[in-house]
Amino acid sequence: TPSNIASSECLFCKIVAGDIPANRVYEDQFCIGFPDINPQAPTHLLIIPKQHIASTAKAEAEHSPLLGSLMSAAAEIARKEKLHKGYRIVVNTGDDGGQTVNHLHLHLLGGRHMKWPPG
Ligand code: 5GP
Ligand code: ZN
Repeated sequence: TPSNIASSECLFCKIVAGDIPANRVYEDQFCIGFPDINPQAPTHLLIIPKQHIASTAKAEAEHSPLLGSLMSAAAEIARKEKLHKGYRIVVNTGDDGGQTVNHLHLHLLGGRHMKWPPG
């Protein structure tokens, strides 16, 4: 998927727009958080910017406030979800990174012990 596509072509832009339903466990001016449809841990949430950015490969310095807000949103959600034993934040980028949806997103995974390194 190209990085500069219209939001009508992007799954996560459709979720931001409300055209595809998602349970918004978090929302602020920059981003939303909602459960992953195919959870890989007892807690598996996605945190995405409202603005379309395809991946970290397309991130620029001007996106820094937005990128920072994704990380602090993840931290806030993790506290709200009581992930006191820890959790993992993952950002997949491109084919080798295992990215399947070309709208930048953080995975917040918790509720079980995570192995390192991932496969
Ligand atoms: P990626 O593989 O790009 O890092 O992560 C994309 C994630 O989006 C996957 O974990 C996948 O399960 C999730 N996903 C794909 N389609 C939908 C959807 O329509 N709704 C939700 N909530 N998650 C989705
Ligand atoms: Zn998008």
